[in-house]
Amino acid sequence: MTSSVDYDVIVIGSGIGGLVTATQLAAKGASVLVLERYLLPGGSAGYFERQGYRFDVGASMVFGFGQHGTTNLLRRALDAVNVTLEVIPDFVQVHYHLPNNLDLKVSRDYEQFLENLIACFPHEAKGIRRFYDECWKIFHCLNSIDLLSLEEPRYLMRVFFQHPLASFGLLKYLPQNAGDIARRYIKDPVLLRFIDMECYCYSAVPADRTPAINAGMVFSDRHYGGVNYPKGGVGQIAEKLVEGLLAAGGQIKYQSRVTQILVKNARAIGVKMANGQIYRAKFIVSNATRWDTFAKLISLEEILLNEKKWQKNYQKSPSFLSLHMGVQASVLPSTTECHHILLEDWEKMTIPGGTIFVSIPTLLDRDLAPVGYHVMHVFTPQWFADWQGLSVKDYQAKKEEMAWQIIDRLEKIFPGLDAGLDYLEVGTPRTHRRFLGREDGTYGPIPRRKLPGLLAMPLNRTAIAGLYCVGDSTFPGQGLNAVAFSGIACAHRIAMDLRL
Ligand SMILES: Cc1cc2nc3c(=O)[nH]c(=O)nc-3n(C[C@H](O)[C@H](O)[C@H](O)COP(=O)(O)OP(=O)(O)OC[C@H]3O[C@@H](n4cnc5c(N)ncnc54)[C@H](O)[C@@H]3O)c2cc1C
Repeated sequence: MTSSVDYDVIVIGSGIGGLVTATQLAAKGASVLVLERYLLPGGSAGYFERQGYRFDVGASMVFGFGQHGTTNLLRRALDAVNVTLEVIPDFVQVHYHLPNNLDLKVSRDYEQFLENLIACFPHEAKGIRRFYDECWKIFHCLNSIDLLSLEEPRYLMRVFFQHPLASFGLLKYLPQNAGDIARRYIKDPVLLRFIDMECYCYSAVPADRTPAINAGMVFSDRHYGGVNYPKGGVGQIAEKLVEGLLAAGGQIKYQSRVTQILVKNARAIGVKMANGQIYRAKFIVSNATRWDTFAKLISLEEILLNEKKWQKNYQKSPSFLSLHMGVQASVLPSTTECHHILLEDWEKMTIPGGTIFVSIPTLLDRDLAPVGYHVMHVFTPQWFADWQGLSVKDYQAKKEEMAWQIIDRLEKIFPGLDAGLDYLEVGTPRTHRRFLGREDGTYGPIPRRKLPGLLAMPLNRTAIAGLYCVGDSTFPGQGLNAVAFSGIACAHRIAMDLRL
């Protein structure tokens, strides 16, 4: 370990994963510096403002704010630094508009949801119950233990002795995928497609490649802690974490891009900034994606070999085409739900532009738009490569053309949308790459093929001593509550190393 250090821990990036790591460590007494390349914290959970509208950059369906159990990790992360955030319950997680008029709302009330789904597939009533009930089994295992670092042997021993049934339950489900469990109980091919969509909308892959642990978490917590929208927008989560970080003695610097992780004698010892400045610390945590961390911030041959193994299992998911819209309130009837998913043809579920995701947070928090208007965030997967090599004119034309195709499709569920449009800003994979600092604007890693559940997903430690990764490139993957877990686990492991 180096003798002259500026901080105990440097965190590269202020996404939710990075901020949770930083706040947890600061609360335990570590000296922490967060370096963020952008002007604001939050990364994919950030926000921006235009003409009186406040738009969420990405996430808006937020888990992790439940009142009970151990899986409410965003709430716990804020509690750890004594900050609170008002949240607004969303009583329907999502309204699906699927092929052949399969129209279904996922209610917060579990029985209500089952009733709605069974009404669409009455012949599968038993299988539906058995599948979702098995997801609850996974959730109850998770929700009965303190969720900390799987790289801390004493913690693992304690959990095994205190909660043997939950521990064995999790060991059983860790290598499984949701699709295997679904096919055990369900035969109807359309219902299996629906389960695929249930997985795809957060894991970016169908059920066969979605780890059972993640499915169990999402399919149960939506009825347990529920989906809750932060008052003031999703960006408030990061703002509050920063408030807590500063109060706990931590620091954050914006417009501070790290260009290199410094390594000496096979140990990470500091970072070099774009302006040439160097900061040293005992531990370095990267909240950048694995592709950005290992290909750009560090370039040691041995690491590349190690990462190549990981890249054999995982690839970058596509990025998105995002439409940030302001619309007249009259376009949306008062019964409209906050989140919608639209797909007209099952064969197109995973292709670019196939599935459309819609979020209208002003249905929960009116203050995010001028009076009489709503904020709408609409997005659909797109590959970065399809937006490369275009002239400025062609790029603009392609953006315009695709945006209007999407608005046309949305007219089916929101008649009058086109006429009621007040503001439109279109982001492409290039925008996501530029503002989020994520290679190719990717949403995160997805399995290249069917893998044994979550077993192949890396934890926080890396092949370089003193260097940790946190966020959606690490166990257990994408989503705000998931990266909060990654942050809590990372901080737990480092706190042990620092003897805090
Ligand atoms: C369109 C969209 C919709 C989504 N919807 C949902 C949803 O409804 N619910 C949900 O739970 N999740 C959703 N997600 C996923 C969720 O937002 C992400 O999984 C999560 O926010 C990722 O957090 P993170 O901490 O891993 O990293 P990021 O959010 O990527 O943050 C990393 C931070 O590091 C900074 N950084 C990177 N490199 C450097 C560097 N070299 N120097 C300094 N700083 C650097 C970046 O600027 C960024 O601020 C969505 C994502 C997108 C894009």
